Amino acid sequence: MAAGGVGIRCQVYRRPDGYPEGRHVTRTAACCESCGSPEPDEQLRPVYRIYLETDGEGRVIGERVLPDLERWCVPCRTLYPNRPADDSSQPGPGAP
Ligand SMILES: [Zn+2]
Repeated sequence: MAAGGVGIRCQVYRRPDGYPEGRHVTRTAACCESCGSPEPDEQLRPVYRIYLETDGEGRVIGERVLPDLERWCVPCRTLYPNRPADDSSQPGPGAP
């Protein structure tokens, strides 16, 4: 079984039914790259996703930080392991 990776991508923003045609939406729709939920830009923070590595019996034996920067909403940053991109206290992925 593959670890993590639910594969949900940011969904295309759709206008609700009845939205006036031709009216331009100025605000860029942003969504969380973890759950795909549309969120205000200020709620999203750049993080590196962390995959927990487990042995055959489900015990956590280590963690792997993915090199790709993602933007997550508050609930995802609370629920899932991640490393804030602006966390300078620890060496990032690929650092010596
Ligand atoms: Zn989210």
